[in-house]
Amino acid sequence: MHVSLSDIDVKQRIYCNRSLNMRNIKAIGLDMDYTMALYKPEEFEVLAYQETLKKLVNIGYPESMLSWTFDTDYMIRGLAIDKQRGNIIKLDRHRYVKVAYHGFRELSREERRSLYDASLIQSYEEPDYALIDTLFTLADAYLFAQLIDLKEKHPKEISKTPMEIYRDVRHAIDLCHRDGSIKHKVAQNPSLFIQRDPRLRETLLRLRQSGRKVFVVTNSLWDYTHVVMNYIFGNDTRQLTLDWTECFDVIVTGAAKPSFFMSPNPLYEVNPDTGLLKNTDGILNPDSKIFQGGNFKQLHDRLGVNSGPEILYVGDHIYGDILRSKKELGWRTMLVVNELESELNALVRFKDEFRRYEELLEIKDGLDDELQRLQLELESPKIAHTGKAKTNQAQQISQIQSSLTSIAKKRDSTREALRKSMKRYHQNFHPVWGQLMKTGHQNSRFAAQVENYACLYTSKLTNLVNYSPNFSFRSTRDFMPHDFLHD
Ligand code: IMP
Ligand code: MG
Repeated sequence: MHVSLSDIDVKQRIYCNRSLNMRNIKAIGLDMDYTMALYKPEEFEVLAYQETLKKLVNIGYPESMLSWTFDTDYMIRGLAIDKQRGNIIKLDRHRYVKVAYHGFRELSREERRSLYDASLIQSYEEPDYALIDTLFTLADAYLFAQLIDLKEKHPKEISKTPMEIYRDVRHAIDLCHRDGSIKHKVAQNPSLFIQRDPRLRETLLRLRQSGRKVFVVTNSLWDYTHVVMNYIFGNDTRQLTLDWTECFDVIVTGAAKPSFFMSPNPLYEVNPDTGLLKNTDGILNPDSKIFQGGNFKQLHDRLGVNSGPEILYVGDHIYGDILRSKKELGWRTMLVVNELESELNALVRFKDEFRRYEELLEIKDGLDDELQRLQLELESPKIAHTGKAKTNQAQQISQIQSSLTSIAKKRDSTREALRKSMKRYHQNFHPVWGQLMKTGHQNSRFAAQVENYACLYTSKLTNLVNYSPNFSFRSTRDFMPHDFLHD
């Protein structure tokens, strides 16, 4: 089947960083949460947030917090939390900090530049920084900003340092995920928290019919996985059935990614009827296909796969799903970026505004070039030592200087207009943080990670259904600045 990219809606396309011929793929692996199971943030993340508030109040935070609300659209992926200073920052691919907030107060350019001076070479990584790289951690960032805001406005209410506040928030959210505060409620009423994608079953069936093995590797434990998969595969969750397991060759739950890709964790067989675990001691029952834990080696054996590049793994977490599986094992990877859909919508909608911004950029670059040319002329030995009459020389110099002044003025006002235009353009994407994949006009740090680690990226797993299972994805050509000489 020949698929022309132009036949597919831009929001449903799969974008390719590194060429991938699906004919070479023998097995396709899928993450569950936020890959197959699409949570409704306004319900799911709000639940996590509210349960976390309760835990924080229990350890001594002000009771007034219980009436706080979570604006699930406020934070975006790719931001970093500066735990020491209480800031949230957005970086570009060179780790230049372009936007910074202390709580909900935007730092001025001067403040931002003095704190995040490029000469200080900061890694912006743990332990002083935390990356918001999954949708699960948007609540961490929002709650952290709220608490910093409270500390600023009412210092008596919170005496803890930003670092301590961060630790408390992280610990409370982590606990909510592990102690059932979130999962019991989701299991009781999955339809409230999870969106069904009607194309899911068809997508997986087509892959299997093409001869590919299809497997799941999720960090969720079996009992929760069973409930969620029943729901997303269209079953009535009051009566759990194992029908959905028929769509898969191997199911690994409680995988502890990314350690699954590196460490020899113990492997258990799951009895799907009772949910009980059986220690395997390395000897697997040939009939069982549902496991907990273990690592990639046993999975490769089960799938009959000889080398990493025969596997395509699809996940939503750049660190947990994509980075290690690619770096350590050479698995081919596809990142699901749900937010890409609205990013693409805005790209299409505001393309005229983008062109105007580019025109302004061109004008500013032209003025900069002209300034440099005049500066060069002024410094040129011709002017200083031509031996012309002194008055002529002085006249020439004064002409150049007055051109320099007037062009510099024009350049400064164009630069200011450009700055405003860029801000306006970014605000079309997100009022606070701007475009997900760009910071200023550079790629954002998040975009750089996507580019480096995800062979493919798309807004939804089920976009695979738009392509033949033997499709050959081709990357766009790489460009360096000197390549544009051909333009
Ligand atoms: P996966 O995406 O299918 O691998 O599953 C992710 C799992 O990680 C889900 O069960 C989440 O509830 C869980 N999870 C997300 N954030 C946290 C956390 O902060 N602590 C513990 N578990 C988490
Ligand atoms: Mg996930």
